Amino acid sequence: MKIFNTMTRRKEEFVPLEEGRVRMYVCGPTVYNLIHIGNARPMIVFDTFRRYLMHKGYDVVYVSNFTDVDDKIIKAAIEEGVSAQEIAERYIAECKKDMEGMNVMPATVHPLATMEIDGMIEMIGKLIDDGFAYERGGTVYFRTRKFRQYGKLSWKNLDELRSGFREIKVTGEEEKEAPLDFVLWKPKKEGEPFWPSPWSDGRPGWHIECSVMAKRYLGDTIDIHAGGEDLIFPHHENEIAQSECANGVPFARYWMHNGFLTIDKVKMSKSLGNFTQVRDIAKHYDLMVLRLFMLSAHYRSPLNYSADLLESAKSSLSRIARCVERLRDLAARPEGAASEGDAALLAECPSFTEKFDEKMDDDNNTADALAVVFDLVRYANMNVSEENAPAVADAYLKTLMELLDVLGIRLPEKEELPGEEIEAMIAERQAARRAKDFARADAIRNELLAKGIILQDTREGVKWSRA
Ligand code: AMP
Ligand code: ZN
Repeated sequence: MKIFNTMTRRKEEFVPLEEGRVRMYVCGPTVYNLIHIGNARPMIVFDTFRRYLMHKGYDVVYVSNFTDVDDKIIKAAIEEGVSAQEIAERYIAECKKDMEGMNVMPATVHPLATMEIDGMIEMIGKLIDDGFAYERGGTVYFRTRKFRQYGKLSWKNLDELRSGFREIKVTGEEEKEAPLDFVLWKPKKEGEPFWPSPWSDGRPGWHIECSVMAKRYLGDTIDIHAGGEDLIFPHHENEIAQSECANGVPFARYWMHNGFLTIDKVKMSKSLGNFTQVRDIAKHYDLMVLRLFMLSAHYRSPLNYSADLLESAKSSLSRIARCVERLRDLAARPEGAASEGDAALLAECPSFTEKFDEKMDDDNNTADALAVVFDLVRYANMNVSEENAPAVADAYLKTLMELLDVLGIRLPEKEELPGEEIEAMIAERQAARRAKDFARADAIRNELLAKGIILQDTREGVKWSRA
């Protein structure tokens, strides 16, 4: 399997550190609002990648944090007159609801920054002891020039960056030794949450949290680190600097970054206000439509959101659902039918899984993998029918369901048939029987069976129950 590694800018063969096991870290959201569909993109694409790794037989340890202390959370708390913790807890719970709706599996661990402060103080202390960080008036900075490889992930021209940064003076950071140095710990301001530390009562910088959580839950060197491409610089560059200087070994072996979800070709973001929340989509669509829309593009390409594309994802999802229903009905028939073509159809079936895997093996190409799913749907619609043995339909059904499961596409629950409709169909079946139209009567019984309704002919008349 190949992964495009942002660090080398090449597709590389994926070899995990430990055979059969993958340690993966995905930067999670800052929780001060409901998530928008831009935030949903890394959740969906890396959840799909995780499912594919599992499908290949790997044991995946998947860690994704919630940033629950941050300027924006504190600002939201002040505006509402509640604690920062209350804001964070509320939006973590809401985010988990959205994840459930999008069928994003819970991470193996969802660490919270505020629960890992001790680990952060320890790592910052070590960086200071080893000369990689320094304190000025209660603030601790990372000394970027001590880390020769600074910039290796983002391929930035550091001299250009340095001169660019010189122009920008961030208030409170005048005492930095160099413009690219970044904050590891900062003192509290009035009314802000804080933790005691050897340098000041204060709170950690954003970057240090991921270095510490990755180390704690996955070890000093992890297999895959992922997130949106806006995180490459400075967040991931800074994570590398902290982790590699503190631990003395490479931090992550593969770096994966998703492209932006855009609207009118502009990055969707909370700060620009051009966002659509996952919750807004859920009012009008099954969130599987959103998932299908996200997977229809390559994860590294930009994806422009539009109502039309969402509508087209909706009809694609219905097309898949109709095929599944039909194959289910065909598979549920009693044994009997068989055709000469059965063996050839059964032999063809595994080729779809092979093609699907081939696409996913090529850097998580969900767009092409999805095209294979539609090839399967088209092929089954055209070639699998009442003339074939139920086992043929069953084989195609199982393959299709397996591929959908890898993509995390959960089909909408079948709508439950209302009682009156069942009674009406039973009456129609009785009428057919009286007219000696047994074929029609049997067809109605099978139709009900496919919808999970079991009929029982008793002396008192026809009784029905739900399977
Ligand atoms: P944030 O809450 O802004 O820290 O973002 C959480 C995750 O969502 C990060 O991995 C970001 O890179 C990602 N993200 C935010 N906005 C977008 C977007 N418009 N398109 C794709 N990914 C995004
Ligand atoms: Zn991070």
